[in-house]
Amino acid sequence: MRSWITVQKVKAMKNKKVAIRLNNVSKRFGHNPAVNQLNLDIYEGEFLTLLGPSGCGKTTLLRMIAGLESVSDGKIYLNEIEVTNLAPQKRNLNIMFQDYALFPHMNLIDNVAYGLKIAGYSSSERRARATEWLKKFGLLEKAEQRPNAISGGQRQRVALARCLITDPSALLLDEPLSALDANLRLQLRTELRKIHVEQGKTFICVTHDQEEAMALSDRIAVLKNGYLEQVGSPEELYDQPKSEFVATFFGRSNLWPAKISNGKALLDDGTLIDIAGQWADGSKVKLVMRPENFVISDEKHFDGKVTDVRIRGALAEISVVIFNLTAQVEISRNSQTVPNKGDFIGLKLNGPIPIVPVP
Ligand code: ATP
Repeated sequence: MRSWITVQKVKAMKNKKVAIRLNNVSKRFGHNPAVNQLNLDIYEGEFLTLLGPSGCGKTTLLRMIAGLESVSDGKIYLNEIEVTNLAPQKRNLNIMFQDYALFPHMNLIDNVAYGLKIAGYSSSERRARATEWLKKFGLLEKAEQRPNAISGGQRQRVALARCLITDPSALLLDEPLSALDANLRLQLRTELRKIHVEQGKTFICVTHDQEEAMALSDRIAVLKNGYLEQVGSPEELYDQPKSEFVATFFGRSNLWPAKISNGKALLDDGTLIDIAGQWADGSKVKLVMRPENFVISDEKHFDGKVTDVRIRGALAEISVVIFNLTAQVEISRNSQTVPNKGDFIGLKLNGPIPIVPVP
């Protein structure tokens, strides 16, 4: 369920200034479309993630924002000024690449100070500012070392410091955690989020990892085949997906076919389910039932037979066959008694269930 704080945060975000506006942006490589008529406002200070499967166009979009890729159609605005054809170095954006692209022959202080050198700052000013950033990121004692002498997490911080030292209006991050092993990824997610909050800058991130996107982002733009499928907070995308693609992309769900009848969803066996939102009578839809939407109860919507039980710490995952469908159910072991394989149980659905259209 969406927390009150997040709802307030997303509302506040909508009152904020638009930092980057994509207006009907398309990109074609030859005849092949990579990004299609994409409209998106990115607000000042938000962490927005471009998410989607491989080849959906997210890197191309990030590169168009950075000015590293030309735009086939449409316009890009930074702080209300059109920059569609402006050179990358004139956009006041910085991009952090997947491999961090640190200079191996330079020590950390020179790596961090590099952007200031290009901008024409004096050597003493560069050193003083880079020292400040290394201190801020807890790397001062490593200042004279080279990138290959520090850990993956430390390299990430050096790369971030190098991008932030020039005070860009937004920072673009291309798969910022993918070069790291699984444990470090989890740790650095939290760190990246913390740095974002501290800096208060607009961060635009590309990833194909939905869990990572959920943990990092204020909003996520989900792309599919170069089209923007849905944009919203992590809670909105999980609780109110607009399509089967988004419903299955975030978390697990039981997608059951139904037909709308008198404002409810009618299943094949005649069960009527309360649904979220208003749908025209007769529409063919799918119910998006998350495993945690089910409760074992005698006040039931369904009867079913337990065909499998898997214990996952405090949770139990249960497979239940209900007429011609199987429900994947998740219950808390603290609050409910876990049934055994072969038991017949009643299942109740919690709350109105989101619906997606059948294309
Ligand atoms: P991944 O997660 O695999 O990096 P992505 O979502 O970032 O994928 P893009 O790299 O933006 O996707 O690619 C989108 C489409 O454009 C793909 O079909 C890709 O093959 C194509 N494409 C990308 N760059 C070029 C290029 N320079 N020349 C031709 N086609 C390209």
